[in-house]
Parts: sequence; C-alpha cells; structure tokens
Amino acid sequence: MEEIRDTARRIAVEKLKPRAVETDRERTFPRENMKALGEAGFHRLIVSGEGGGLGLGRNVFAPVVAEVSKACASTALVYISSAVVGKAIDLAAGDVSKKKWLPKMMEGGFLGAFAVHEPDSGSNAGAITTRAKKEDGHFVINGSKFFITSAGEADVYLVLVRTDPEKGPKGMTTLLIEKDAPGLSFGRPEDKMGLTSTSSRELHFDDCRIPVGNLLGKEGEGMQVIGRTVVGWGFFGAAAISLGIAKSATELAIDHARKRMIAGQPIGAHQAVQFMIADMVLKTDAAESLLHACATNADSAPGTAIINDGFQNLSPHLS
Ligand SMILES: Cc1cc2nc3c(=O)[nH]c(=O)nc-3n(C[C@H](O)[C@H](O)[C@H](O)COP(=O)(O)OP(=O)(O)OC[C@H]3O[C@@H](n4cnc5c(N)ncnc54)[C@H](O)[C@@H]3O)c2cc1C
Repeated sequence: MEEIRDTARRIAVEKLKPRAVETDRERTFPRENMKALGEAGFHRLIVSGEGGGLGLGRNVFAPVVAEVSKACASTALVYISSAVVGKAIDLAAGDVSKKKWLPKMMEGGFLGAFAVHEPDSGSNAGAITTRAKKEDGHFVINGSKFFITSAGEADVYLVLVRTDPEKGPKGMTTLLIEKDAPGLSFGRPEDKMGLTSTSSRELHFDDCRIPVGNLLGKEGEGMQVIGRTVVGWGFFGAAAISLGIAKSATELAIDHARKRMIAGQPIGAHQAVQFMIADMVLKTDAAESLLHACATNADSAPGTAIINDGFQNLSPHLS
C-alpha cells in the first residue's frame, strides 16, 4: 500500500505537477497524464484479478487519487471517471464487452466516462428522462446528459437510461455507448471556475442506435450498477480529490507563512496566523482519517452506516 502511494506521489510530483497550471489555464484535456498513470499501472488498480487488474480496494484507490489531486485535481477527476467505468465493465459486463474494452482501458489510452446527471434530475438520479427503446436488436436512445466529465474526449460512456417508464427505479438500465455511436453528439465545454481541463460537456442522444450487446448488467438493474460503481467507488474518488486539494492548499499556506516577511518577521511568527494554519492541518488530517476509515469499512463491509455518516461529515470539512 505505501509503495503504491509513493509511486503515485512520485509520478504526481515529477510528471503531473509541473504541467498542472498550464493544463488548467489552457484547458488542455490531460490525456498525456492519463497515459503516464497507465504506464505505471494505475488504470489496473481497482479492476479485479480475473479482469486482469490488481483488485485493490478503496483504501488504496482513495490515497492514490488524493496524491494525484494534490498535484493536478483535473487529472484526478478524469482518472476516477474512467476508473469507475472500468470497474463497472469489470463487475457487470459480459465476456465480449470485457475483452473488447478492459485491456485497452487498463493501458490508459482508452478512456471511459459516466453519464447519469440530467438538467432536470439533479441530485435525484431516479428522475432521469433519457429514454432507450429496443428496436431490431438495437437500443434507440433519446435525451441529454449534463455536466459530464471527459465528454467528447472519452472513448466509451456508461450511460443511465430509462428502458421502462412504468417501473420507476426498476425500469432503469445502464448501457455502454461508444464516442462515435450514430446519433451521439456533444455540447460546448462548460465554463467552470476550477477543474477547467476536464471537458465538462453535455451529451445529446438523437435516435442514437447501439447494439443490444452494449447492455451493461441486466435490463432494469441500472440503479444497482450505478450504486456499485459511481456511488460505491466514484464518491470515494470525489472525496479524495477534495482531500488532495485541501492538502495542497495547506502546504502552500504554510510555505507562504514561512516566507512572507513583514517588518523583518515571517507572518507565520504571529499567533493569529498559526491558529489558522493549525485549523487547516487539523481539518485536513481529520478528513484523511475519516476517508481512510470509510474506505476500509466499505472494502470490508459495503453498505454500512459509517459510510454515509462519514461522507456527510467529510464534505463540509473539505469544501
Ligand atoms: C466538477 C463536476 C463534474 C461532474 N461530472 C459528472 C459526470 O462525469 N457524470 C455525471 O453524471 N455527473 C457529473 N456531474 C454532475 C453531478 O452529478 C451533479 O452536479 C450532482 O448530481 C448534483 O446535481 P446538481 O448540480 O443539479 O445539484 P442539485 O440537484 O440542483 O442540488 C443543489 C443543492 O440542493 C441540494 N439538494 C438537492 N436535492 C435535495 C434533497 N432532496 N434534500 C436536501 N437537499 C437537496 C443538494 O445537496 C445541493 O446542495 C459533475 C458535477 C461537477 C460539479
């Protein structure tokens, strides 16, 4: 575990950090960074041994994401978005889809993205309206997804659709849709305040046709697939991204407090500044411990209360 984390830290410091400012300023999608992570084996991290991966848990995934995020949070977000899709294919796809996509994804040149969110559903994934109907051995999809990380850049999309409007959450299904599928197009990049190189765009499905073989999991079990992947792994990644940003901000603040001299004294010599820094260190360390506890708990006993309680407590501390 420590060895893997050290490797992530080394790559982050040597390869990701030097180009992080320019990447975000220029809004360059961090494809090269994904390849660097792939060469070091990080796209295999959470794929099971049977799927050709390392089969490691959230208690390794989260610290790795935090190290990446500390150097370049955009890269960390693109990384977790793809990792979640790899995990979904690993857990729920048939053998044909696994052979088709997993090896390429684990190398890092072929990226995934997940598309759940819609303008009118927001936090409530159960309210999505994107519709898929079966027709002549195909799913025909109509609707839109909003604010999707890596949109237009990723090669394969894990998309939550409604296959049976009568059945509520049990009428929802996950599909794998390739970037060049007929009827799929992308909106313009969102103008964000941060994470600017992650290519957040809309996905538009206009009679988009994909073979029924691209079904991921069983029809009607889309919410379970999303729960086991986007929620079960992606939310840990999101918390780890926040942790990485908080750690980086704390280090920068300490450095500034040591170097900024006023009237011959570093500002860090003043107790008021020390209090603020102590507060930052305390909250960041507490968040890291909580994330570690939640990750370890989820790896050993998924679905227990501490996970939800932990996340509810983590967010305000890290924002
Ligand atoms: C950087 C970034 C990357 C993203 N990448 C992806 C991606 O790759 N794929 C994807 O599918 N989505 C992505 N999203 C979208 C994300 O899933 C949504 O932002 C999220 O689901 C929340 O929806 P919303 O922004 O519409 O907020 P809203 O649903 O409008 O919520 C606004 C506020 O109201 C609160 N709220 C909402 N409902 C309730 C309720 N019932 N009770 C109490 N409070 C409530 C929320 O907690 C929140 O504080 C991304 C978002 C961001 C910011």
